[in-house]
Amino acid sequence: MAKDYYKILGVSKDASADDIKKAYKNLAKKYHPDVSKESDAGEKFKDVNEAAAVLGNTDKRKRYDEYGTADPGLDQNFSGFDFREFSQGFDFDDIFDNFFSGFGGGSRGRNRRSRGRDLLYEESITLEDAATGTSKKIHLKGVGACEDCNGTGADGGEFMTCPSCDGSGRNIRSQRTPFGVFQMQTTCGTCQGHGQKPKSTCRSCKGDGKSRKDNVVEIKIPSGAYTGLRLRVEGAGESGDRGGDPGDLYVQITVQEHSTFERHNDDLVIERSISFTTAILGGELDVPTLDGTKTLKIPQGTQPGTILKLRGAGMPSIRGGVGDLLVKLSVEIPKKVNKKQEELLRDFDSASRKKGWFG
Ligand SMILES: [Zn+2]
Ligand SMILES: [Zn+2]
Repeated sequence: MAKDYYKILGVSKDASADDIKKAYKNLAKKYHPDVSKESDAGEKFKDVNEAAAVLGNTDKRKRYDEYGTADPGLDQNFSGFDFREFSQGFDFDDIFDNFFSGFGGGSRGRNRRSRGRDLLYEESITLEDAATGTSKKIHLKGVGACEDCNGTGADGGEFMTCPSCDGSGRNIRSQRTPFGVFQMQTTCGTCQGHGQKPKSTCRSCKGDGKSRKDNVVEIKIPSGAYTGLRLRVEGAGESGDRGGDPGDLYVQITVQEHSTFERHNDDLVIERSISFTTAILGGELDVPTLDGTKTLKIPQGTQPGTILKLRGAGMPSIRGGVGDLLVKLSVEIPKKVNKKQEELLRDFDSASRKKGWFG
């Protein structure tokens, strides 16, 4: 169960941002572990901050109101708390910033290289291409790593220790407050907390590490591909920060409708009509397949709606094996017959009735 953040802050569901801020300030003061004498103050302080982090942020509050949680990571594990996001939504006084030193914000890893984002691309192919398998070139703009600096943003990939923070990635400031002296940690603005900065900025990418060129990725679409199939091209997504690992590219396949064949998993289905005489006497029927025309045997006495199977003339399965071609037959009855045909049919009819064939 998610925590009731409104209850924790003691505000109503329609509390304004100001109400929340006020309630938060009072409770944060009350439960701050350096101030409070209560034994569970630390726990309460954490809850209060967690509640304010959600309700103090318009987006998170909306999500929380709708789904009962601001995000899964926050609900299950408080370490997912992103303090920077919190403070953006809330605009605290300096003194309240101090409360947060020591949890959440300060421990951002130095030299952290973040992985690039995954990308999703949609590719539409014909049924014929899905049957044989094919390859496609996908052009992605500005997602690869800069070739000149390997995505690091530093000329020659060379870094130096950040002079502003001496490589710690943090600036620490002490401040005297009514509650005592607090140390306040902020992320170093010069190196964004990495602790290192480029000796000189890469000229090709101006330091962002992203390639300006089109990235052409060739993907192999396997035989038997179907609509909804998702292929992953490892490392073909957006390049990571500072030479971090790239994300992956996902290619989602749509197989276009075909004018002749309807696909049912690995089988292909077509509808054909035969004459009533072929239905009675049997015969042959030419049918289209993905490999050209094939001849299908029609047995004597074929009924309307019969489905005949041409084994192995369907779609190859992505897991191996091949489906069948299913031919659904309808029977055509001539609307007119000539005199001679009518005579023959009447003879056929009376002979059949004598034998009791037609009830
Ligand atoms: Zn620095
Ligand atoms: Zn570069």
